[in-house]
Amino acid sequence: MFLDGQLLPSAGDDVPVHDRWTGAELGRVPRDGPAEVDTAVSAVAGRRRPMPIDERVSVLTGAATALQARAGEFAQLITAESGVCVRETTREVGRAVANLRVAAAEAERLRGESIPVPGAARLAVTVPEPVGVVAGITPFNRPLNQVVVKAAPAIAAGCALVLKPSERTPLTALAFAELLTGAGYPKEMLALLTGDPARVGGALARHPAVDMVTFTGSVATGRAVAAAAAGKKLLLELGGNDPLLVLPDADLDLAARLAADGAYATAGQSCRGVKRIIVWAGVADQFVERLVGLSRARRYGDPRRPETEVGPLIDEAAAELVQRRVASAISAGALLCSGGDRDGALVAPTVLDRVPPGAELVREETFGPVAPVLRVGGLDEAVEVANGTAYGLQAGVVTNDSAAFWQLAARLRVGAVNLLEGPQFDSPHIPFGGVKASGLGREGIRYAIREMSTTKTVTVPYGWP
Ligand code: NAD
Repeated sequence: MFLDGQLLPSAGDDVPVHDRWTGAELGRVPRDGPAEVDTAVSAVAGRRRPMPIDERVSVLTGAATALQARAGEFAQLITAESGVCVRETTREVGRAVANLRVAAAEAERLRGESIPVPGAARLAVTVPEPVGVVAGITPFNRPLNQVVVKAAPAIAAGCALVLKPSERTPLTALAFAELLTGAGYPKEMLALLTGDPARVGGALARHPAVDMVTFTGSVATGRAVAAAAAGKKLLLELGGNDPLLVLPDADLDLAARLAADGAYATAGQSCRGVKRIIVWAGVADQFVERLVGLSRARRYGDPRRPETEVGPLIDEAAAELVQRRVASAISAGALLCSGGDRDGALVAPTVLDRVPPGAELVREETFGPVAPVLRVGGLDEAVEVANGTAYGLQAGVVTNDSAAFWQLAARLRVGAVNLLEGPQFDSPHIPFGGVKASGLGREGIRYAIREMSTTKTVTVPYGWP
């Protein structure tokens, strides 16, 4: 485990981490188990101390500056262990730096309120206090920024932190933990665990000294974590199956660009990527033609090359699943318009038209570079199809018809609706999170700080002492 600012060897064996493209060993991490979880959490909880606001701000700005200075190194490490192409991991580091800076600014704005209590000659003052020990469990996609969106608000709120990154991408998280302690985050308030996901993650979520669990990952794991964390504060950012809706008046060049960008970013392994493109039938032919043009032009392959836009998936099993779902959608009546090929973990950007809404490819969350087009006859059908899955994270709408847009904004069951943008729109300044199976609670720095804080109320009689 990583504790007291250093990586301690495990009692058991180490787990190798490999480069997703070359297969070379990148490093080894300890195979921690429940005993290490207990040691780490007890150490952090027992030594947690109040952090003055200035200290929180100094850690966050120091970490942002240090990360910015090492952006190239971090981007290459993320690319190596995740397979995401370097042009995207470079952007990911930029987003992580922005999240740290926004967290520093928000820490300076922490406020309570004063309430002259009606019916009592008393004044109440509320004070935000850190929730305590926050456990952050994070997924493999965007292995730096997913950790930063847990750590930055936790530091701004004054919490202690125990991280459990994905077993598939632990090295980036470890490098970031070292960077955090280097920037002045108290060594005794930070731990990071690696190893068997269910044993470590379950023991962490269950540990009595953990006050809050913030989890990002799949729905199935999120539910297991929620059960283990029963009784604790909980934030869940789970899967997505986000639609982009293209109305008959849409600017089809813009719509096709948003669709391709949203479907192929991170090789389609993004919770808020475009997973379903719901297009009014009257403009579907022209739209698909544009989308196919953009898809054929996407350069895919070696993620280390600066020109690559789509790298491999996290592993070959993930790519096989995507290929099986594409084949099954085709046998259910979908039309393959471009792509469809697979080489190991690499899947070509793929466009499918006339995908039936019941196909597994679009009913379930498919993590791959696939752009499935679902044709609809009008607004009611579009809403039914868009809302017709278990998920409800974000949606994008392309139209200039304001009446239609506001109807959609009201009727789509999602956490956010973006006009003339894809569901992938992202900013550290706005709330982020889902409804239905997509999650519980909100991230976005300010909102996550609130989740990681409790309110203490102090009441005093007027005229005291
Ligand atoms: P995952 O659920 O397999 O793993 C997520 C984390 O949980 C990892 O750290 C893993 O080691 C850990 N884990 C696994 N089993 C566990 C258990 N039994 N108890 C406790 N922890 C356990 O997810 P993944 O495959 O790494 O990531 C992809 C998923 O994450 C997708 O569903 C994606 O949509 C979702 N995701 C959601 C968001 C969001 O903000 N809504 C963002 C990114 C990814």
